[in-house]
Amino acid sequence: MDIFDKAKPILDKLIKYGFEAYFVGGCVRDKLLNRTIGDIDIATSALPEEVMSIFPKTVPTGLQHGTVLVIQNSEPYEITTFRTESTYHDFRRPSEVTFVKSIEEDLKRRDFTMNAIAMTTKNEIIDPFNGTIDLYDGLIRCVGEAKERFQEDALRMLRGIRFVSQLDFRLHDETFNAIKSYKHLIENIAIERISVEIEKMLLGKSPKKGIGLLIQTNLVNHLPSLKEYTSQFNDLLDFPIQSLKTIEEIWALILYKCNFDNPEQVLRNWKMSNNRMKQILKVYHLLNETKIKWSNTKLYQVGLTDAIKYERLQCVIDKIDANELNEDLLKTLYNQLPIYSKSDICITGNDLLEWSQLKGGPWLKEVLSEIEFQLVENQLENNQLAIKEWFINWLQK
Ligand code: ATP
Ligand code: MG
Repeated sequence: MDIFDKAKPILDKLIKYGFEAYFVGGCVRDKLLNRTIGDIDIATSALPEEVMSIFPKTVPTGLQHGTVLVIQNSEPYEITTFRTESTYHDFRRPSEVTFVKSIEEDLKRRDFTMNAIAMTTKNEIIDPFNGTIDLYDGLIRCVGEAKERFQEDALRMLRGIRFVSQLDFRLHDETFNAIKSYKHLIENIAIERISVEIEKMLLGKSPKKGIGLLIQTNLVNHLPSLKEYTSQFNDLLDFPIQSLKTIEEIWALILYKCNFDNPEQVLRNWKMSNNRMKQILKVYHLLNETKIKWSNTKLYQVGLTDAIKYERLQCVIDKIDANELNEDLLKTLYNQLPIYSKSDICITGNDLLEWSQLKGGPWLKEVLSEIEFQLVENQLENNQLAIKEWFINWLQK
């Protein structure tokens, strides 16, 4: 069953109770574009408390914004009451909203014409701002006056650029010029929200278009840590970055090309999680080594996932299309490794103590590492007998 059909009973129920209900926003846009639908958003004339009284299972996730989550067949659906955003503070999303009577009024508060289209359960389209025409033209255009819309909520500028990359669209002139005028307002937005949009942009279909726009509008000057590095950031356009597959690879490339004094601090300025930071820095440091030739030991130390990321990045840095990378070769090499971690070694430190009758000490760790190395390099077989023989030999030396 298609994802809209699954959600239809919810809209039907609202309508049965005398309310209006529509599919709206990203799901309608993506359906018209034949893209995979992320999540279904529903707009209704019912007030949040009315929604909660009609449906047995609800979660009041964003009551102050008029949003209730309805759970149906274990799946959540966001239902938002028709609203405007009347008061904006500090160029950010409003803290309060006003509920309105009609879907048309609700569509007016949305960011871009292509995101301001509603659809009924009978697939009829409500499109007061001609979003469908812009969709077919590949245009991202603000609803109403672009300058006003970005002053109300500066994050919209980055959303616009993110959609350019994801959909391979372009910005309408007025929208582009308004970003140029109001780019500095992005400094009022929380870095966590900026990050989400930038990363969606970088992972989109046309990241180069997105990066190009950050530079042409000068928005890049107002993003954390990038101010003094705009020309290096611009150099990213020379590389086939669209063939990178994970956000960690893309960040590693940015760190590599910008050559920041303190790359760790840059990631911290972007409020990255420790885990994410560790992953990025690991690949980044590999890039700074002399070009890696994969021996058993090196592959064992780095691990398959990061080795593949590294190879993809090397291709991009050499400006070769990373799709040509022989990932299979690395996989074959990895699959042939005799062990994958210390715990795969079939003896323990206790065995060594017993065999040698010596007291423990730093030598134990050293000899275990040596055994590990010998095993990885296939110079020793991973069985007790072989290791014991090797060890007795080692003791005699
Ligand atoms: P995605 O595919 O990334 O989910 P989306 O367009 O659905 O894209 P959401 O953040 O899920 O984005 O928002 C749903 C809808 O809410 C949008 O399509 C748009 O109509 C509206 N919207 C979201 N953020 C804003 C904003 N900052 N200003 C105005 N309208 C917005
Ligand atoms: Mg969405």
